[in-house]
Formats: sequence, C-alpha cells, structure tokens
Amino acid sequence: MLSVSIFVTSRCNYQCAFCYRHIDKGDMTFERAIQVLGHLKSLSLVEGVNLKISFAGGEPTLVPWISNAIAYAKKLGFKTELITNGTNQISEELLKFLDVIAIDIDSLREETNLKLGKSRIHVLTAENLIQRAAKLNLKVKINTVVTKLNILDIVEVANWIRGRKNIYRWKIFQFLPSYGLAKVNESVLKISKEEFKMLGEKISEMMKDWEGQLVIEDNEYMSSAYFSIDQTGSFYVARLIDNKYETITLGRVEDFTFKKLLESGVISKELVEQRIQLNKKVFLE
Ligand code: SF4
Repeated sequence: MLSVSIFVTSRCNYQCAFCYRHIDKGDMTFERAIQVLGHLKSLSLVEGVNLKISFAGGEPTLVPWISNAIAYAKKLGFKTELITNGTNQISEELLKFLDVIAIDIDSLREETNLKLGKSRIHVLTAENLIQRAAKLNLKVKINTVVTKLNILDIVEVANWIRGRKNIYRWKIFQFLPSYGLAKVNESVLKISKEEFKMLGEKISEMMKDWEGQLVIEDNEYMSSAYFSIDQTGSFYVARLIDNKYETITLGRVEDFTFKKLLESGVISKELVEQRIQLNKKVFLE
C-alpha cells in the first residue's frame, strides 16, 4: 500500500516553531480535493496499487469540508488517515471514516511544548484523542519532530509511547528547515545529521522489544520518500540546494503517474518500497 499525503490547508491554530506548512497557499477547495482523489483513484487502478490517503495541513480539521472529503476517499476504497494536532473537536462521524489518526507529541514537558509553539495542555489533548480512537479500534500514529529544543525530551516520549496499547507506529523526524516558520527558526532549532543519528540509535535500542513500528527519518529520507500534494493539487518535494532545503513544486497531479515520479528519480524507489512494506504489515495486504 502506497501512502499519499494531501495538504488541504496552510491554516493552523498552533504556531509550531518547526512548522514547514505552506503559509502562502491558502486552502484547497473541495472541488479540487475531489478532482485530486478521483485522479488518484484512476492511478491506483491503472498502476495496480492500493493507496492510503493522509489528510494533512496545517490543521486539516479547520477545513469545513474535511469530513466529506475523507468520506469520499473511503468510498473510493482508500485507507484514510487524518494528521491532526487534536485541538479542534473531531466528530465521531469523522473518526468512523478513518483507518488511522496521527497526532504529534514532541515532548511531554509543558515548558518545551510552549517553546515549540504548542499549548500547555497539548499532551492531555493528545491523550483524550488516543482514548477516543481506542474505543473505535482506530490505529494511532505518533509523530515527533526532533529539534534542539526537545532533543533531550525524546527518551521520556519513548517511555510514554511504550505504555500505550493502540499506538501502531511512531515516526521520529529530524527537523527539516524547508519552508515557512521552519526556515525562519532554522538557526535556533537545527540539529545535525550526527546528533539525530545518535538519538535514533539510542531510541531504537530502548524500543527494540516494542510491538509497534519505529520509523526514524532524517532529512534525506523525508525529502525523498513521500508523495506529497499541496493545496493547489500539485506534487511537491523538498530539495537540498546550495546546502539549504527548498520546496520544489513538480506540477499538477494530473500530469503525473506514480511510475513517472519514481522513474524521474525525484522520489526514491527504495524508500517508497520500504514504506510499502511497513504498510503491508499493518494493513495485512
Ligand atoms: S506543525 Fe502541525 S500543529 Fe504545528 S503549526 Fe504546523 S501544522 Fe500546526
């Protein structure tokens, strides 16, 4: 199963210092979302791949049509995921259209969360959502972005994750200064590849008997492994140019196939295959 992320809005009720949302691209329209999903359905049939569609932002629940778009994706036969900060009230109806809910935990500490631009009660908010998801047998994914401000808090997050039953995957990302606030705050937040690697090794050792999937993604991985679609309905990637990450728009989804994107080398076949294998284990394809 191939994962595709659709970024439906650049609006958010948080101001995370590491955020690389596309601040100047507004909201996707519902009509465009339906066109994009329809095109993805055609691709999935022609290329013979199952798809998981991740609805991301900004905060996707701020978009008034999000439930309808997720319901439509479900109707097309896709697995569906919502990537949310959990702060907006999510209806039971919306939760029922989902296979996966992804929520971010970067630290358990109030002071770190405030410094990162989250609310004081962020962890409590996440816990509530995780409990609601458990009642509906929804799979829960936790995303953690590692910056200079929270690198010392990740061990605590690891222990917190080990204590929760319905978390099936924990993704740890190296802070990627590719766009927006992330670019503005690059000098304060940036960690080196070596620092991130050392942390990854420590956490892998701690989590080796954990039954969920631990996925550790450095900047290289993040910029080469994702099929990402922005609010205009265009594929985009982050690229290292003159030692700085830049966001590059590739073009409208209608002008591409997955095969074409993989053959062009902008997205790594090897990393995409790794992600397919991870999904295979979870969704029992
Ligand atoms: S990282 Fe997520 S929660 Fe934070 S500001 Fe960006 S979109 Fe909002």
